Amino acid sequence: MIRRAAQALVFPAYLAFALIAGDLLFARGVPGIVAVLSVTAACAALVVVVERLLPFERDWNRGHGDLWTDTLHAAGSNLVAQPICLLVLAWPAAALWPAVWPLWAQLPLAVVVAELGSYWSHRWLHAGLWPVHAVHHSAPRLYWLNGARVHPIEASLDVFAGVAPLVLLGAPPRLLTLFMMFAGVYRMMQHSNVDVRLGPLNWLFSGPELHRWHHARPRRQADGNFGSISIVWDVVFGTRRLPADRRPPADVGIEAPADYPMDWAHALAAPFTRRFWRV
Ligand SMILES: [Zn+2]
Ligand SMILES: [Zn+2]
Repeated sequence: MIRRAAQALVFPAYLAFALIAGDLLFARGVPGIVAVLSVTAACAALVVVVERLLPFERDWNRGHGDLWTDTLHAAGSNLVAQPICLLVLAWPAAALWPAVWPLWAQLPLAVVVAELGSYWSHRWLHAGLWPVHAVHHSAPRLYWLNGARVHPIEASLDVFAGVAPLVLLGAPPRLLTLFMMFAGVYRMMQHSNVDVRLGPLNWLFSGPELHRWHHARPRRQADGNFGSISIVWDVVFGTRRLPADRRPPADVGIEAPADYPMDWAHALAAPFTRRFWRV
């Protein structure tokens, strides 16, 4: 009974905590970067604790020789993506964004707009740029840090696909900061080893249950649920997958190429290696 309640409540409570904490810090004039880092660190700690209390796969709470690799991916991708992000934020903007709306109404709109770009860039990564995206799918388990396991090329593409449309439409800086913070903390929960049950929210959010199917080893199963935050565009374009008769797969990882490198340096080089394009 308690477990059932926790499975249903953890996800909305986590998102509410992140948004309320972020909004409070911004309202008190805390610099954006400090607020984002503080909320992200608190959320990471929360997810790590809840993964121990309510695990989906107990074995995923043990290191698979991937912690150091994922830390390097997180640092490397951020190092490349942050300057691109600052560049994009300086672009001239149209006055098309409803900046007079309250932030709580602007954020869902920002998610839907940004997700349209990131949905199609994610599909493109699966269709034609697999050696770039395979870094993300090479994760041998799913836990809070997997969201950061991305190639710097993909991290850069994400900025252009998701953040740039918001900037071009004229979204205000406070909303952009809130959106980027939300996207970061969401990704930690989406990839977490927490045994959540979202119920009807699985039609709105691309949560852990849906995303585990996206990390299934067979490509025919992984080619679906492309949403980063929302599943709405998967519903619209017919790529949402949540089999009702089976538990999401515990066997996650990469089907091909079978010899895809697991260490950071070789994974960075993989998109520049010809044989990885022949899959
Ligand atoms: Zn993918
Ligand atoms: Zn993922």
